[in-house]
Amino acid sequence: MSEIASLSPSAVWEVFDLVCSVPHPSGHEAALADALIKYAEQRSLHCRKDAAGNLRIDRDAAPGFEDVPRIIFQAHLDMVPVADDESFDFLTQAIEPYIDGDVVRARGTTLGGDDGSGIAIAMALLCDKNLQCGAISAVFTVSEETGLIGAAALEEDMLDGKYLINLDCGPVGRATIGCAGGARQEFVIVPEREKSAAEGNAFKVVLDGLPGGHSGDCIDKNRGNAIKSLAGFLLAQKQLKLCSFNSGNADNAIPHEARAEIIFSGDIEQLKSAATVFSGILNGELQRKSVTIEIIPCERPAMQFSDRFQEELLTALALAPNGAFERDEELGIVKTSSNLAAVFTEAEQLRIRTSQRSLADECREQASAMLAAHFGTFGAVGTVSSSYPGWTPRPDCKLVSVCRNLWEKYAGSALQLEAIHAGLECGMFGRKNPELELISLGPGAPGCHTTKEYVKIDNVKILYGFLQQLVCELK
Ligand SMILES: [Zn+2]
Repeated sequence: MSEIASLSPSAVWEVFDLVCSVPHPSGHEAALADALIKYAEQRSLHCRKDAAGNLRIDRDAAPGFEDVPRIIFQAHLDMVPVADDESFDFLTQAIEPYIDGDVVRARGTTLGGDDGSGIAIAMALLCDKNLQCGAISAVFTVSEETGLIGAAALEEDMLDGKYLINLDCGPVGRATIGCAGGARQEFVIVPEREKSAAEGNAFKVVLDGLPGGHSGDCIDKNRGNAIKSLAGFLLAQKQLKLCSFNSGNADNAIPHEARAEIIFSGDIEQLKSAATVFSGILNGELQRKSVTIEIIPCERPAMQFSDRFQEELLTALALAPNGAFERDEELGIVKTSSNLAAVFTEAEQLRIRTSQRSLADECREQASAMLAAHFGTFGAVGTVSSSYPGWTPRPDCKLVSVCRNLWEKYAGSALQLEAIHAGLECGMFGRKNPELELISLGPGAPGCHTTKEYVKIDNVKILYGFLQQLVCELK
C-alpha cells in the first residue's frame, strides 16, 4: 500500500491505491478488472463482464428500498500512458502515487486519476454499508481513451437502470450534461524512397518541451503542435535529406515531442543556431521556456525520402488544418476541431493520425472531409474509424434537477451545467438505452494525459459526500 491509502475517505483512497498498483493502459485492462472483481466479491457484490471486457458490479437495494430505480455509477478502466522517461513500461510497472500538499500526483507518469478516481468513488459507494438506498451498480468500461471502444461494445443489459452518473468529468461544482462526438482519421501513404546520400552526416532532430494535453479540452489552449512545428522547421532548412519523421503516442493527446532523422551536408553550427532561433520563437508564441530543438549525431539510415516526397510531406504536415475551427458561443466552448496526433515512419509506409471532434455530427464529418482533402493532395488515403455520436443536453430531466437542488443545499452554491468538447461515453449510453437519464460529475484531474496530472484530495471528499446523499435522495 502507498501513502495515499491513508487519506480520507479511506474507502475511496484504498481503491484508488489498488487501481494504481495494477497496470491498466488502454487495451490492457483485464488485470485491473480482475482485481476489482476480487475486491467486490470479498464484499459480497455480484460481478459480471461482457464480451468486450466491460465490468458491471451490482449491489441490491436495502430492505424497503426495492422499488427505487437503480442508479448506475460509471467510470472507465483504462488510463492514458504517458511517462517522462521513455523506458517506463506501462504493461508491467505500477504507477507510484504520492501526496504533494493538498493533491495526489504520480512519480514521472500520468496518475490515472482519469479515471481511477471515478472507479474508486463508485466502488466505495457500492461498499458503503451505511447507505439506505435502492439498488446501485457500477459499470466500468475498457478502452475509453482510445475511442470509447468499451462503451461502443457495451452489452445493452449492462445499462439496465434509470439513472447513470458518469464519473469522468469535473471539477466539483460542475456537471456535464452534453458532449462533442468524435472520429479518428488515419492517413497512409507509401513514401518514395532512395538510397541515402553519400555526402553529409546523419543527425536526429528532436523537438521537445511543448505542453501537450488532451486533444479535446486543450485544443484551443495555445498548446502548439510538435508535428507541425518540427515540419515547419525542417521545411525551412537547405541541404537536408529527410529519412524518417515520428511523433505522438496517444491518439487523443496533442503531441508534445517530434523527431526526425536527417542527412545534412551543410554547416552544422548554422543548423544548430537556426534551431535555437526557431525554438525561441516557439517559446515566445506559446509563452513557455521549455521548448527545445536538439540536433544529435546518429547512425546513418539506409534510405532517405525522395526530394519530392520530403517537400510534400513536410508541407502537408506543417500546413495541416489543426486546432479549433469553430466555437459555440452559447455554451462558450469549441464546437469543431481537429488534432494532428501522430506520425509513424514504418518499413513500407508512413501513417499520419488525426482526430476530429464536434458538438454537431455533421460538422465533424465536414472537418474529417477537410482533412481528407488536405492530405489527399499529396496522395495519402484516409480512413475514418471509431466515430461516435455527441450527447445532447437535457437540463430538465429528473436526474439533473435533483443534482442541482441537492448541490445547492450541500455546497451552498449553484451547480454549473456545461457541455464539453471532448468525447464522453454518455453519448453511447444514451443511444443504447434511451430511457436512461445521464449526468457526468467527477473530482477532476487537471493536467490529465500529461505527467503533470493530479487529483485534489478535498475534491474527492466533497464529491463523495455529495454522492452519498444523492443515492438516498434520488427516487
Ligand atoms: Zn477519462
